[in-house]
Amino acid sequence: MYDVNSKCADDFIDHEEILETLAYADENKENVELIDAIIEKAKKRKGLTHREASVLLACPIEEKNQEIYKLAEQIKKDFYGNRIVMFAPLYLSNYCINGCTYCPYHAKNKHIPRKQLSQDEIRREVIALQDMGHKRLALEAGEDPVRNTMDYYLESIKTIYSIKHKNGAIRRVNINIAATTVDNYRLLKEAGIGTYILFQETYHKESYLELHPTGPKHDYNYHTEAMDRAMEGGIDDVGLGVLFGLDKYRYEFAGLLMHAEHLEAAFGVGPHTISVPRLKHADDINPEEFDNGIDDETFLKIIACIRIAVPYTGMIISTRENKSCRERALHLGISQISGGSRTSVGGYYEPEPEDESSEQFDVSDNRTLDEVVRWLMEMDYIPSFCTACYREGRTGDRFMSLCKSGQIQNCCHPNALMTLKEYLMDYASPQTKAIGDKLIDKEVLNVPNEKVRNVVLENLHLIEQDNRRDFRF
Ligand code: SF4
Ligand code: SF4
Repeated sequence: MYDVNSKCADDFIDHEEILETLAYADENKENVELIDAIIEKAKKRKGLTHREASVLLACPIEEKNQEIYKLAEQIKKDFYGNRIVMFAPLYLSNYCINGCTYCPYHAKNKHIPRKQLSQDEIRREVIALQDMGHKRLALEAGEDPVRNTMDYYLESIKTIYSIKHKNGAIRRVNINIAATTVDNYRLLKEAGIGTYILFQETYHKESYLELHPTGPKHDYNYHTEAMDRAMEGGIDDVGLGVLFGLDKYRYEFAGLLMHAEHLEAAFGVGPHTISVPRLKHADDINPEEFDNGIDDETFLKIIACIRIAVPYTGMIISTRENKSCRERALHLGISQISGGSRTSVGGYYEPEPEDESSEQFDVSDNRTLDEVVRWLMEMDYIPSFCTACYREGRTGDRFMSLCKSGQIQNCCHPNALMTLKEYLMDYASPQTKAIGDKLIDKEVLNVPNEKVRNVVLENLHLIEQDNRRDFRF
C-alpha cells in the first residue's frame, strides 16, 4: 500500500500507485483545464507531485508542450542562471559479481579486460584529470566485496584528495558504488565524499528482478532503500537516476519522482541530483535488444518535466549523449555535465587499444574538456568548476533552504567566475582563454551586490597576477 513515509521500498514505490498514476495521466492527458492548472502551479516554482508531472509528460498537445518547454527553460534560468557545473567520472574497478543484463561488467562477461586501479594508478589518473582542469570527480566501480572493499574506497578517496599537482586539486569526490550498509555510508561521509550516487536502473520490480538475475544487486528492496540508509549514515546529498530504456519511461518517471518525494517526506531533504542516462551500446551489450528505448524528443520532454517537477534538484547528463542532444538538454534543465570523459578503468593516463577496451559504455561526445568548455561559452554558458558548498558545510537541508530561497545564486555565480578564471589560467587553450576572459568581463557586471562584485574583481586579479587559487563564497 502506497505510503510516502514508509521505509519499505514496496510502499514508497508502490506498484499500484504507479499504475493508477499512469491511468490518471492517460485519462487527463488532453484535459486542457487540468493541464493549465498544473502549469500554473509549476510556475510557482515549488514543484509538482508525481501525478501532476505524469499528466504533463503524457500530454500530446503541441501547444501545451511548448508551454512546458518554455517554463522548464525559465525555471532552469531562475535557479541555475547560465552556469553549468563540470565533472568527470573516474572508473576505479570493473570487477563485478552482479549479473546486470545491460552492463558489460556483468560477471558472466569473460572477455572484457578486468582491472582495478592501484593507489599508484589512481595517482596517475588523478594527475591526468587535474591536468585537464577537473576539480570534481564521480568515482565509479562494480560490486565485488572481495576486491572492491570499503577499505579500498576509503584509501582511494584519501589518495585522490591528497594529490596536488601543479595548481591542480580534486576538491569534491562524489561516489557511485553499490548499495551498502549504514555503517559503510557513515565511513564514506567521514572520508569527505560529496554526493552518494546510486542509479535505481528501473523502478519496475518485476523487470528489475529479471534484469538483475544474479548477485547482491538482485535484492530490489535492499537496492531501492539504499538512499534511506545513506541518509541514516549522515550522507545528506544523494543522487538518483534511472537507466532509460530498461522499462517503460513513464513508469520510471513516476517512480523517480516518488522516490524524491519519499526522501523529502522521510528526511526533510530531497535528492541533490537526478541523472538521466539512456541505455547505450557497449561491449557485449546491444541496446536494440531492449525494447523500451526512447527517442530524443521523448528524452528531452522527460528532462523538461523533471526540471519543473523538482526545481531545486540538480540534473546531470553524461557523455553517453552526443553534442546536439546535450545542447538541447542544457536549455531544458541540465545543470551539470561531464567533459573529456573516459569510461574505462585507467583510460585517462593511457588510452586503451580498441580491442582491449574496459569501457562501461560507448562515449557519444568525444570532445576534450577544453572543447566542451569553449562550446559552452560560445553558447553564453559559464562552465563552473565550483565545489564550494560541500566544503563550506552547505549540504542537505542547509543547502536546500538556500536553494529554495534563491540565495544560493549569490554564491554560485561568483564562484563560477572565479573557478572558470583558474581554469583559463592553468589549462585552457589560447582560443578558449580569449573567449573566457571576455565572458568573465561581461558576467562580473551581473553580480548584483556591489560589495560581492568588488571582492570577485579583486580575487580575479589575484588569480591572474599572484597565481592565487581556491577562492570561494
Ligand atoms: S551495472 Fe554496476 S552492478 Fe551491474 S554489472 Fe555493471 S558495474 Fe556491476
Ligand atoms: S555554490 Fe554550491 S550550488 Fe553553487 S555551484 Fe558551487 S557547489 Fe554548486
